[in-house]
Amino acid sequence: MIRSLLFLISCLTILNTYAQRTLIHCGNLLDGKGNNTQPQMTIVVEGNKIISVERGFTKQSGNDVVIDLSTKTVMPGFIDMHVHLEGETNKDQNIQRFTFNDADIAFRSTLYAKKTLMAGFTTVRDLGGSGVNISLRNAVNQGIVIGPRIITAGKSIATTGGHADPTNGYRKDLMGDPGPKEGVINSPEEARQAVRQRYKDGSDMIKITATGGVLSIAKDGSGPQFTDEELKAIIETAKDYGMHTAAHAHGMEGMKRAVLAGITTIEHGTKMTDEIMDLMKQKGTFYVPTISAGKFVAEQAKVPGYYHPLVVPKALEIGPQIQQTVAKAYKRGVKIAFGTDAGVFPHGDNAKEFAYMVEAGIPPIEAIKAATVTNAGILGMADRIGTIAAGKLADIVASDENPLTNIKTLEKVSFVMKDGVVYKN
Ligand SMILES: [Zn+2]
Repeated sequence: MIRSLLFLISCLTILNTYAQRTLIHCGNLLDGKGNNTQPQMTIVVEGNKIISVERGFTKQSGNDVVIDLSTKTVMPGFIDMHVHLEGETNKDQNIQRFTFNDADIAFRSTLYAKKTLMAGFTTVRDLGGSGVNISLRNAVNQGIVIGPRIITAGKSIATTGGHADPTNGYRKDLMGDPGPKEGVINSPEEARQAVRQRYKDGSDMIKITATGGVLSIAKDGSGPQFTDEELKAIIETAKDYGMHTAAHAHGMEGMKRAVLAGITTIEHGTKMTDEIMDLMKQKGTFYVPTISAGKFVAEQAKVPGYYHPLVVPKALEIGPQIQQTVAKAYKRGVKIAFGTDAGVFPHGDNAKEFAYMVEAGIPPIEAIKAATVTNAGILGMADRIGTIAAGKLADIVASDENPLTNIKTLEKVSFVMKDGVVYKN
C-alpha cells in the first residue's frame, strides 16, 4: 500500500516537473527581431524551450516559477562567432606549446567556457585549437562541463609555414612535416583530405588562415597563403559535408581570393578594400570584425617581452586598423556579424566588442542583432537560437540598463539562462 502510494507520488512529481513553467517577467524585451524594446513582457519557458511570449506580466498558476526581471532589459543569449576556448593570452604562451599536455589544455578550457557563458554568450563558434575543443563541445553538450553551446572548427587549416601551421617557430628537428591530418595542406588534393579529416574528427565547420597572422611566429602578417585551387577545393569539400567556412584574413589578396572562392565569413578583414567590400555584398559574405582582438594586441605589444619579437611590429601595425575598416564596411553595406577572437584577450570580456562596434558607427540595435539573429543565421541555427519566440531554445540574458541607451551595460549581464537552465541571476 505504502509502496504504491509512494510510486503514485513520484509519478505525480515527475509529471509536475515536466509541466512546470517558468515565467520570466521582463521590464523591457529586445526579442532579436524588432528594433525596439517592448515594455512589460513575459517569456514562458517549459523545459529547454520558450513556449510563448506574452504581453504584460503573466500571473503564476499551479507550480509556475516566476523569475523577476521587471527592472531589466531581456535579450536572446549572445553568440560569438570567433573564440578560441583552448587558450588565453599570457606571456608564456609560446613555451606552453611545449610544456602543456592535452589534459592541461582541457582543464583550462573548462574555465574559459564557464567565463564565456557567465558573460552572456550562450553559443560560440570556436575557430581553432588542437582538437581539444571538440571534446569540450561534447562535454558541454553532455552536461559535464558548464559552458556555451559550441560550434567548432577543431584544428584550423593552414599551408606550410602559414598562420596556424602548428610547428611555426619550432627548432628544426621538432618541426617535422605536418600534413593534412594536422591541418597543413599544399595542394587541392591535400585540401580535400584535410577537410574530410576534420569531418571525421568531429568538426562542425572549417576554418582556414587565408593570409598571414599577427600572433604566429612568422614575419608576414598579411600576404596570401592559399592558391585559388586550394581554396576552391576546401570550400567545395566543406559544402559536401554540410559545413560552412571561415577565413582568417588581414591582407587584400588572400581575402579577395577567399571571397571569390565562396567563403562564408571573413575574420578580422583588416585591409579590406572598397572592391572587396563590394564583392562581399555581391557574394553575401559576412564580416566578423574582432575589433577587441585588434585593440588588445596593439596595447599588449607595448609591454616589453609580452610577445615574440616577430609578433610585435605586426600587432602594432594591424591591431589599430580593424575598427576603421569596420566603420567603412558597415557604411558600404557589408553584412556585419559579431565576433571577438576571445582567447587572444581574456575570455569573458567578449561583450566589450559591442561598444567597439558602436564606436565604429554601428547603431546599438544593429550590434545586438549581429550577436543574435545574424549569427544564428550564419550557423544555420535560426530555427533554434538568436531570437526570443515560441519554439526557440530558452537562451536568455538580461542587463541592468537599456543597452540601446547604454551599450556598456552588456559588459556585465546580470542574468543568464541557457537551454532553460539559469546559470546567473
Ligand atoms: Zn582567431
